[in-house]
Amino acid sequence: MKIICIGRNYAEHAKEMNAPLPKEPVFFLKPDTSLLKDNQPFYYPDFSKEIHHEIELVLKVTKNGKNIAPEFAHKYYDEIGIGVDFTARDIQAACKEKGLPWEKAKAFDNAAPLGKFIDKTEFKNLNNIQFKLVINGKTIQKGSTSDLLFSFDSIISFVSTYITLKTGDLIYTGTPEGVGPVKIGDRLEGYIEEYKLLDFEIK
Ligand code: ZN
Repeated sequence: MKIICIGRNYAEHAKEMNAPLPKEPVFFLKPDTSLLKDNQPFYYPDFSKEIHHEIELVLKVTKNGKNIAPEFAHKYYDEIGIGVDFTARDIQAACKEKGLPWEKAKAFDNAAPLGKFIDKTEFKNLNNIQFKLVINGKTIQKGSTSDLLFSFDSIISFVSTYITLKTGDLIYTGTPEGVGPVKIGDRLEGYIEEYKLLDFEIK
């Protein structure tokens, strides 16, 4: 399986990164070795001094597809979960400056903690799902799918133009504003609406 991540999908986050608003979805990949499941702790890596949290809603792909039209995209995922797109911001900044790819900053081991999923039929309106990241008991990031620049369906359609989606692939759909550093000892909890679906520590 592969992990597809969407960048700059919330305007306020693009702004805080001093990045222009994208005209089409921006995406990048993480390998399966990035996955961190079952609320396992995240061990702070030696190669970075600035690991940032990015809380994101995650789609689980339920069937294979290529060149998926937007009107059929909803048939390719049944569940919505929450995860963190950990980013070594110091390394990313250096890569950006040199125009180099981001893998060192985004695709390292355990850079994609993943929580539990909720069946999408549980949501009244997929375009108004609230989610948040709580660190040490305090809400640090809050998002709503009403603020997405590119909807779930348009992301699926766009990505599948270039890359075949396969059952079990994950799509991290972008982070709202409020990204920032984590430190050893922090406890991170991810919520969709009132459901806590992710809860792990930085060690
Ligand atoms: Zn992200």
